[in-house]
Amino acid sequence: SRDEKIGIIGSGLIGRSWAMLFAGVGYKVTLYDVLETQVSVALEDIKKQLLALEKDGMLRGTLTAEQQFKCIKGVNSLKECVQKAKHVQECIPENLELKIKVFKELDGLSGSNTVLCSSTSCIVPSKFTADLAHKANCIVAHPVNPPYYVSCVEVVPAPWTSKDTVSKTRALMKEIGQAPVTFSRELPGFGLNRIQYAILNECSNLVSDGVLSAEDVDTLMSEGLGMRYAWMGPLETAHLNAEGMMSYCERYGSTISSVSSTFNPPPTWSPNDSKALSKQCDKMVPLDQLQTRRQWRDARLAKLAKLKKEM
Ligand code: NAD
Repeated sequence: SRDEKIGIIGSGLIGRSWAMLFAGVGYKVTLYDVLETQVSVALEDIKKQLLALEKDGMLRGTLTAEQQFKCIKGVNSLKECVQKAKHVQECIPENLELKIKVFKELDGLSGSNTVLCSSTSCIVPSKFTADLAHKANCIVAHPVNPPYYVSCVEVVPAPWTSKDTVSKTRALMKEIGQAPVTFSRELPGFGLNRIQYAILNECSNLVSDGVLSAEDVDTLMSEGLGMRYAWMGPLETAHLNAEGMMSYCERYGSTISSVSSTFNPPPTWSPNDSKALSKQCDKMVPLDQLQTRRQWRDARLAKLAKLKKEM
């Protein structure tokens, strides 16, 4: 694989992470952005990040930071970025019109062996790949932020995506050390955001109904459910909490069902309806401290990722 090429379109937060992950196993990575200056800013940032990771003993892969950085090249044409690439990872902003435009361009520039893959968080691939000559090669691989430490990737095919594209994408994700989950078909929000939204809906309702403070809701997750979920999903957790899932359903099924019937409908999440929730969150972390808190979070996620690898 080492002489093979990966093209990355968009050098923002997610494009940089993918570049580092692919370079980690020695792929030749070409990085393109519509803003030329953005590519040089991205390369500088990637170099800084790789050296810091190496210093902290957190660098992934077997190559040194310097060797990994040498695998990444900035280019200033889309053509140069995707030509002869085995896989193109699109990382442009989450905007349907933009995805349609860029996938059309990619379609015209790529050969029949190139997988055209989007990082979109929520847009189903059929919405921006329908009219393309290479539509069987198009797919979504949705990473979870920060991808360097959170390895899950949602692999979501459009109705016309070939089986070969799905299996190539899965294999590539595994090769770079990510954990792919594969959808049999596309649906809005894929899986991760559907689950996340279900959690957010109930958390918001508990706060707006005045049952719990925002801080206490978050403690239920960070010191409660989240402790388990770092290691094991909710289904296996339930399976282990009784003598298997069937016995869990016998014991708790009717309780789950009757409690669930008391759930309020999901909030609208409009800014106007979210003022009270927002006020409590601003108190928890004032807006001028968000960046500090993000760094706090990422440092801990890095340690957790390391611990999970060691255990
Ligand atoms: P970002 O704004 O940080 O970066 C986007 C980059 O794309 C910018 O550098 C911009 O200059 C460039 N760009 C814009 N138009 C372009 C074009 N036509 N051609 C080439 N480059 C172009 O965005 P991001 O946070 O990296 O998100 C990128 C994608 O990844 C989105 O679809 C997003 O939904 C998805 N995603 C984001 C996260 C996250 O937490 N940020 C997580 C998972 C997936």
